[in-house]
Amino acid sequence: MGDTVSHTVGATNVTPETLDPQDWRALRALSHRMVDDAIDYVAGVRDRPIWQPMPDSVRDYFDTPLPKDPQPLDRVYRELSENLMPYPMGNIHPRFWGWYMGAGNFTGALGDFLAAVVGSNLGGGDHAATRVEQQLIGWLKDMVGFPATAGGTLTSGGSMANLIGLAVARNVQSGGQIRETGVADAGSTMVFYASDQVHGCHCKALEILGHGNLALRKLPTDGRLRMDTHALRRAIAADRGAGLQPACVIATAGTVNTGAIDDLPGIAKICREEGLWFHVDGCIGALLAIAPDNAWRVATIEQADSIALDPHKWLHAPFDVGCVLTRDREAHFETFTLDQEYLQKTERGLAAGDWLYEYGPQTSRGFRALKVWMALKEHGVEKFGRLIDQDVAHAKYLAALIGDETDLAMVAAPTINIVCFRFDPGQLGEQHLKRINTEIMLRMQESGFAILSDTTVSGRHCLRVAINNHRTRQSDLDRLVGEVLRLGRDIA
Ligand SMILES: *Cc1c(COP(=O)(O)O)cnc(C)c1O
Repeated sequence: MGDTVSHTVGATNVTPETLDPQDWRALRALSHRMVDDAIDYVAGVRDRPIWQPMPDSVRDYFDTPLPKDPQPLDRVYRELSENLMPYPMGNIHPRFWGWYMGAGNFTGALGDFLAAVVGSNLGGGDHAATRVEQQLIGWLKDMVGFPATAGGTLTSGGSMANLIGLAVARNVQSGGQIRETGVADAGSTMVFYASDQVHGCHCKALEILGHGNLALRKLPTDGRLRMDTHALRRAIAADRGAGLQPACVIATAGTVNTGAIDDLPGIAKICREEGLWFHVDGCIGALLAIAPDNAWRVATIEQADSIALDPHKWLHAPFDVGCVLTRDREAHFETFTLDQEYLQKTERGLAAGDWLYEYGPQTSRGFRALKVWMALKEHGVEKFGRLIDQDVAHAKYLAALIGDETDLAMVAAPTINIVCFRFDPGQLGEQHLKRINTEIMLRMQESGFAILSDTTVSGRHCLRVAINNHRTRQSDLDRLVGEVLRLGRDIA
């Protein structure tokens, strides 16, 4: 039966409705135009402002009410060309160094498109998309030196990856009853350890998991902002003495403030001796493991019980995609498996494949894997490793430029790709410096020249440049230093 044939429901003739277009040819032409525009958009990104404030007309446009009547897709697209595309966050631009993002890549965009076209639900089942995700997870295990027998799942990002890692950790450490009895029974005395530089997502995770923030010991750091492992040993002993249950150490490979990498071998040893779960938050740094010049910095990461990492950071996948890997696949599965009458596995057919939803809290899951998988196939892992080295080398280069300027002061020298510095011509107090540097940051954002963010390290406010960007060139960093000096002198 063709689409246009009417059928009879009761006494009325009804043309069946669908979301498919009436005219595939027109859709084809529009789609080609979108792809052409998208290529121009990315190819020309360097020549546009990184970011610009939205005019009122754009804010108003996104306040229009729920559309009741149809409008042609080419008009919808034209409106988006005017109201969305010129006002991005800007992280695909070569001079975006704020917070911590990836710069995206066009293959990844095509991957997201094809993933949506296939439309498969990665909750599981025996179809090719689940094979893609499982293959990608195998490749990610390879990258960090995990055994093929390890478990893992893709997530929305590092926050969810860390949450899952900590959930597995505490379930194992509880002796297995916590899914039934809850934290009030099996988990009430558990303690988690991290440095005072730990990412905020771990606080959210421990709140959600029911342990609360008081269950997280934020240990002091040394001069290079790495966890003080002597303090870790003392805290574990003190907690045991107080009748508490030390459960898990969260080591950070690449802190969000400064890129510091905790002493992974030292922490691994303590965890082994003390019977603690060794979790590595490697959202920034785990993938250093594929970078020839810098892999040594994360040696021993392969001994972790669980690792959170972020393909949307150093693999530059379009947002969003994170990953958690777990050494003990069975323990991971036992944390999330369910026996549901409506999701039974069969011997044959579609339901014969793995149910991937049994490795995390989501049931329906998107096909996030394809964008990462395609870019890895296209470029090969070695190129991604070289790009990581390139970012680290850029940070060193920027640090050298800063060192040459008397009006700039380094606040935290880079370990990897994060540089913390400030405009400081001398003789000015902390509050005054913070005002000047904040103003430098804002003027750079508003002019569309560069995006930096700021932070406070050991009580000193500073500008923070996180070079996680395959489009950045040395000349961009030369210009950055010139612009910070120009603005700083102007403002001061
Ligand atoms: C980015 C980051 C996270 C959170 O990851 P998202 O992908 O943003 O959810 C966690 N830990 C560290 C160290 C990070 O840099």
